[in-house]
Parts: sequence; structure tokens; C-alpha cells
Amino acid sequence: MTGRLEAGGDAREAHAPGSHGAAGTIPLAVPNIGALERHYVVEAVESGYVSSVGPFVAEFEDRFAHRVGARHAVACATGTAAIHIGLILLGVERDDEVLCSDFTFVGSVNPIAYLGARPVLVDSETRTWNLDPALLAAELDRRAEAGEPMPKVVEVVHVLGQPADVEPIVDACDRHGVAILEDAAESLGAGWSTGRHAGRHTGTVGRIGCFSFNGNKIATTGGGGMIVTDDDDLAERARHLTTQAKVPDVGYLHDEVGYNYRLTNIAAGLGLAQLERLDEFVAAKRHIAARYDEALRDLPLELPPRVDGFDATYWLYSVMVSEADGRGRDDILAHLQRQRVGARALWRPLHAQPPFAGAPVLGGAVGDGLFARGLSLPCSTDLTERDQERVIESVRSFFA
Ligand SMILES: *Cc1c(COP(=O)(O)O)cnc(C)c1O
Repeated sequence: MTGRLEAGGDAREAHAPGSHGAAGTIPLAVPNIGALERHYVVEAVESGYVSSVGPFVAEFEDRFAHRVGARHAVACATGTAAIHIGLILLGVERDDEVLCSDFTFVGSVNPIAYLGARPVLVDSETRTWNLDPALLAAELDRRAEAGEPMPKVVEVVHVLGQPADVEPIVDACDRHGVAILEDAAESLGAGWSTGRHAGRHTGTVGRIGCFSFNGNKIATTGGGGMIVTDDDDLAERARHLTTQAKVPDVGYLHDEVGYNYRLTNIAAGLGLAQLERLDEFVAAKRHIAARYDEALRDLPLELPPRVDGFDATYWLYSVMVSEADGRGRDDILAHLQRQRVGARALWRPLHAQPPFAGAPVLGGAVGDGLFARGLSLPCSTDLTERDQERVIESVRSFFA
């Protein structure tokens, strides 16, 4: 089983939409697809524009850029593809180093390996569960002091809908001239409401931001991703690289090695509908999180981060289990499974994944703890109050 499945990746396969009635398993997180989605997809199909040439792609990009407050958005086939191109845009090449969050889904770091570059993994802080700014700053300062080369890029992931503490991260990177790529795949709809980045959306603080519309994300296109940037040249190059580096208006001229990474018009149609409903989805996730917080706060659980001025979406509502009389996270997962509640463990940190086990790690204990003790509870945007009540009762009965 992959980390992704453990984190709820393809809940749909085990629990087809509509199959989760009162008697069935309550799924971890399933897409919310309705009449608006059907409308756009049918329109795309009937127009004959089914591939990446079609009006919905540009419309989706424009509306997405507007929604997150970026100058440009370039749609991609997947979130992983968006990160791959994003790293190329920032000049990452073979043997370059990229500092990256250690506690994240493997899609964050695989593109570093595609380029033959080397990830250096940075542990999380307990306050946000995201990249620890103090560890990052200490490492960059140490390198400067020792005359060692800087990493080409710092890749900051905003996990589980929770914005990272970007102010000190930006300061450290600015001090040493290192570019930031934000992996905002899980944090569409999240941002900051106080401090220097007040009013900003995750993904718009670094030079490049990347999003995912995989089936389990807060908004889906079936599969898809987005690169956002305020830099005109980077946006143009992103478009070029994702379309096989095809030179426009010249017959089959490709001026460098490109990628077939564009989103299709059908997928963009789905995306347009989901984007129109994003506020509804974010409100639902926050409502679900508030209800869980209220109902679980007296139990021996650590609730998800709540940081003033960091406006999380609680994409996957996740808690940490305290050791209770020798019973831990796996015991509660087994209990919930018997109760037909689709809870899942959090990811194994990257330093514990076989392809990245040899990568240097700064810290690591916080990510290990999140994996050892963390689990996500059902939080589909259409979760009914009754089903959530059943989840809460199941969790409570474990500790009773
Ligand atoms: C989903 C995800 C990705 C990859 O996105 P895909 O669209 O599945 O390729 C990358 N990083 C994180 C943190 C993710 O959750």
C-alpha cells in the first residue's frame, strides 16, 4: 500500500460515490460532483474540444489565477507535473540540491529525483506540522558561514490544508538568495490573514506555486494541476515546456526537450465547476473541522494546528493519538475500521521512504511522530451531520 492510499488517495476505489449509506463505510474523502460539473463536462464533450486545445483550459487558468491572486496560472496534467516544471523553471538541474519538507506526500519530492537533483529533507515544526523555519534558517546560515553552496530551491509544502509559517522562511531565503517553490497541492483555499502576507493565498508567496486537482483534493479535475507565478517570463516558459516545447505558428518546430503536460479541455470543464464551488467546499471543511474540534477536545488526542492568522482549510482533518494505556494509533485505526469509519494513517515521512532513505535529513523526529501517531478522519465536503456524529461516537467509544 502506498503512502498516498494510506492518506486517503483513492478512497473512491474502495467507496464509490453513493455507496456510503448509513450501513456502509464512511469514506475518508470523496469528490463532490454535481449538476454544475455535469453541465461543463457535457459542454466540453459536445463542443468537440476534448483535448488540451479548447476554451475551458484558458478560462480555468484565468479564473484560477484570479481566485488565488496570482498574475498567471498554467494548467498541467497533474500536480506532480506542475512541480516538475516548476523546478525546471527555477533552474534545477542534475546534482543541484533542493531543500524540501520531509513530512509530505511523495509527489512533492519525486520531481526532484526526475531531474537528477538531490533532495535535502527538512523536518516539520509542531506548531503547523510544516517545514520548520528555524531549521531552514540555521542550515542556510551555516552554509553561508562555511562557504558551502546554497540549495537551488527551497520547496515548502503546506500539508493538509495548513499554511506554513512563511515569513521567517522568506526572510531566510531572501537573505541567501534562494528561490522558493510552494507545493500548495493540499491547500487550495488556504492563506494568511495577518502579518506581512495578510490577504495572500498559499502558493503565491514563492516565485512558483503548484496545485493539484487529483480526485481526493478539495477541488478536482479527475487529475490535474496548476502552476502559478507573478513572473511573465516564467509563465510563458511554463506554457512552452508543458506543450512539448512547440514553437507557435511554425510547423513541428520544438526548440528544446518539452513535456506533454497540458490539462485537457474536459478536465478543465470539471475544474471550472469545482472552482465556482470552492468557497462552499472550504466552508464545509472548516465546519466539519470545528465540529470535530468541539466533540473530541476532551479526549487524549492532539487536534490539528490552529494558528492565529493562518487560515487553514482542514483538507484532511487529522489528529495525533496520545499513547493511552499502551494502545496507539494502529489500535484506534483498527477500531474505526471495525466501526466502518474510513480513517487513515498520515504519511510516512520521506526519509523513511526507500527511494529517499539516503537523502540528508535535518531533524526528523517531528515527522516521525506525525507518522507514528497521526490519523485522518472522514471529512468529505458532503459529509452529513449524522455520519459525522457516527465518526465521533466511534472515536469516543475507543477511549470509553
Ligand atoms: C497530491 C499531491 C501532490 C501531487 O499531485 P498529483 O496531482 O496527485 O500529481 C504533490 N504534493 C502534495 C503535497 C500532494 O498532496
